[in-house]
Amino acid sequence: MPPILHRRTFPRLALALWLVCAFGHAAADERRVLVLYSLGADSSSAWQRLVHKGMYDELERSSQGTTPAIFEERFDANRVGEEKLQEGMAPYLETKYADVKFDAIVTENFVAARFLSSHPELFPGVPRHYVNHGRDQWMPRDGMGYEVSSDFERAIGVIPLVDPDVRHIVVIGDQTMRGQMWLERIRKITPRFPGIRFEIWDDGSVTELRQRAAVLDQGSAIFMLSSIRGEGWTRIQPQDLARQIASATRAPLFTHSESLVIPGVVGGYVVSGEAVGRVMARLLLGQPALAGQLQGYYFDYPTARQAGLRNIPHDAVMLNRPHNVWELYRWQIISVGALILLEGALITALVLSLRARRRAMADLASERNGLEDRVLQRTLELLQANRKLQEQASTDPLTGIANRRKMTEQIAQELERARRFRHPLSLLMIDIDHFKRINDSHGHEVGDQAIVQTATLLTANLRAVDSVARFGGEEFVLLLPETPVAVAAYVAERLREQAAQLRVRTELGDEVALTISIGVAAADPYGAPDTPSSLLVRSDKALYRAKKEGRNRVVQF
Ligand code: GH3
Ligand code: MG
Ligand code: MG
Repeated sequence: MPPILHRRTFPRLALALWLVCAFGHAAADERRVLVLYSLGADSSSAWQRLVHKGMYDELERSSQGTTPAIFEERFDANRVGEEKLQEGMAPYLETKYADVKFDAIVTENFVAARFLSSHPELFPGVPRHYVNHGRDQWMPRDGMGYEVSSDFERAIGVIPLVDPDVRHIVVIGDQTMRGQMWLERIRKITPRFPGIRFEIWDDGSVTELRQRAAVLDQGSAIFMLSSIRGEGWTRIQPQDLARQIASATRAPLFTHSESLVIPGVVGGYVVSGEAVGRVMARLLLGQPALAGQLQGYYFDYPTARQAGLRNIPHDAVMLNRPHNVWELYRWQIISVGALILLEGALITALVLSLRARRRAMADLASERNGLEDRVLQRTLELLQANRKLQEQASTDPLTGIANRRKMTEQIAQELERARRFRHPLSLLMIDIDHFKRINDSHGHEVGDQAIVQTATLLTANLRAVDSVARFGGEEFVLLLPETPVAVAAYVAERLREQAAQLRVRTELGDEVALTISIGVAAADPYGAPDTPSSLLVRSDKALYRAKKEGRNRVVQF
């Protein structure tokens, strides 16, 4: 079996051409290349479309920003006829590209290749690359040949591999030179498939082919060569023929060309147009044409499934596979999913933080309330303590009545009021007689008791406006607002009498009697203004006189 890619050339010329390529590439700003196709772009050459796609994909992939300027011309020999082409094309190209200096010319397939090789006068000195698919044993003498040749042993061999029930293979070809050459090669390898009967259909109209294909039985398969059929004067493209046969028969259709792997044809081991295009791209770029995998297993997925094929090679390319949403939009689905998850996480975080915030606020509020309560409590306590302190500062601890300080304040207030309203104000200075004796003969405790009982007596006789205070050891002051001195003297006299009735009990069960002396003084609402001490001095003088005059008496100043 011939290798997939042949390079038949003359080593010296090749070296020279590569050098030209290399220097041309280095010298010129831009590489200019001419591509000659064997069919026009407007003709329905599926093959050429694949080549074109493979070529431009590879250019994009490996040009690294130095894409050459590509000029393309097409040889529609099938329509115009090769002779007419030969006549008109050469002067056309010469005129059109008179001012263009090409770095390389590449032909796609045999019609263009043969044209170029038979016109050595065109583009003198420009390296020529002949990519030729389907014409074996053709060797250019003025350039490098790249022959793409079908491996029919594998192309036929795949049929019993994927469809083990096949006992009968029909090969559909044509009467062209190329068609007959392919059939010749197929005939040579049929003995390698001993269990299979081969039949070759290389004549007859499309209608006849359809009729014969329609009655093929269960164990049959068809191997479609890339062939052109005419019915009357019209010609039909290989794809159209394949379509016509496929619609007429139940037998699975296999082929050797990627351009024929279409719905209705299961596929097979085929020459890949895209791979050929990739080889051409490397030639255009001036890079070595790596002998890549030019053939491979290609299947039309729906047709292969319908035919119930088995054992499809794992490296097969499955065309027209129904799009799987996951395969098509995997990254979109993943990113949208990730976004949703992220959003969910953010929302959760937000909700959690809001909840935490609310809880913290509530804690803070209750803390503040507690604090306010405590402050209030403390303020009340302070107020109470203050009041107590004030009370203590103005109260006598033994008797619980006002002390000297408090009384001095009250005297000042009442003097002020009495003077403003010109009302009378009297003051009694009271002292227990011979108190020292009580202390001495009955003890200090009894003395204290006598002081307390005297204070109680004085308090019991007060009016609402009156006030009493313990002024010193066993000395008391009674302040009587709105009271003329005569009334005060009368009050004093009554107090003195009651005091004499008092009895203080000792521990031994004795009863101790006491007397008091009282000095009475009054403020003069019309005279010179009094001060607390002037009024106290006067009452004290009266008291002194009472003591002097024998005690247990009242003396008015
Ligand atoms: P006079 O009739 O002249 O007033 O004689 P007196 O003994 O009462 O003399 P004076 O007023 O000078 O004495 C007061 C005494 O009272 C002196 C002091 O020891 C005593 N005394 C003062 N304060 C207290 C007290 O709080 N409790 C007791 N038990 N005795 C006190
Ligand atoms: Mg005294
Ligand atoms: Mg006394």
